[in-house]
Amino acid sequence: MATAESGKRNWFARLREGLERTRQALVQPLTDLVRRGRIDESVFDELEAALLQADVGLATTEALISELRDTLRKQGISEPAAIPGLLRDLMRARLEIPGGRLVRSEQPPTVYLFVGVNGTGKTSSIGKLAVNLREEGFNVLLGAADTFRAAAREQLAAWAERSGADLVHHQEGGDPAAVAYDAIRAARSRGADYVLIDTAGRLQTRTNLMQELQKVYRVVERELGRPADEVLLVLDATTGQNGLSQARVFREAVGVTGIVLTKLDGTAKGGVVLAIASELKLPVKLVGVGEGLHDLRPFSAEAFVQALIPDELVGEKTVSMNDP
Ligand code: GDP
Repeated sequence: MATAESGKRNWFARLREGLERTRQALVQPLTDLVRRGRIDESVFDELEAALLQADVGLATTEALISELRDTLRKQGISEPAAIPGLLRDLMRARLEIPGGRLVRSEQPPTVYLFVGVNGTGKTSSIGKLAVNLREEGFNVLLGAADTFRAAAREQLAAWAERSGADLVHHQEGGDPAAVAYDAIRAARSRGADYVLIDTAGRLQTRTNLMQELQKVYRVVERELGRPADEVLLVLDATTGQNGLSQARVFREAVGVTGIVLTKLDGTAKGGVVLAIASELKLPVKLVGVGEGLHDLRPFSAEAFVQALIPDELVGEKTVSMNDP
């Protein structure tokens, strides 16, 4: 059986593997920079192009470059070899947003509301989180408040079965807020530790959708006597900067507390994590790097920057991994 330690190492390997294409966008330009004799303007231009290529986004790229210039000047550094390490530190600082861990309430059930556009990986993220929580020994209940699509309920039912979680659902077309209400009631009477609520994400009827979400949010708050412990916005990393505009829409409607970033595997746009953290000031709480049951884990800024800018480039062997 895998030990916790080897589990962590496997996860780091999976994260590294998932970020392969994003890393490629950065590694070659950084390798070329390090070989230069001195730092001149073209160094910053090339770095900017590489960061944009990794989908870090214009505003965050410009901010990072400006911080890098400041640091180099203040520390009197003229060696290009220092750049990868400094860039890694600057990225880490942007990613370490307070409250990055999932909240667990002292008054069970802990309730997480999952919101996001259809297809981003909402249902499967709920399923994977349920698997993890069940393996940690918690009782979990899933609430199928996406009553708009019968397929969504069936998919959630399959995850409930797979993870050993309970499921509360209504008929297709039922009131999502009523599902949320029943889910919390059922969780209380069955002594469940966690309630994970799926919601609809059809953006074509945006106004209705947002009103519906607000109603679910209010009902949860009333029933629980506090707001949902987390409102997790699920974003698909392959959509890159589009994710930012989705986040703004959802954040306006309900108080998003964190991001679940899926499909980091196989995308060259993993740099979007930096844009999300910098521009939205929302912590990325979970990342998905595949379709396997254990491919969703807590986000670690340290592991992420190490996976993105390899130790070989920084020129030092990093020992601490601070992996979740
Ligand atoms: P929903 O419509 O938001 O509920 O999205 P689903 O949970 O149905 O996911 C849509 C598709 O994305 C499914 O085929 C999932 O298996 C896939 N998916 C979800 N998360 C990940 C991930 O981290 N990596 C990969 N490669 N696929 C994922």
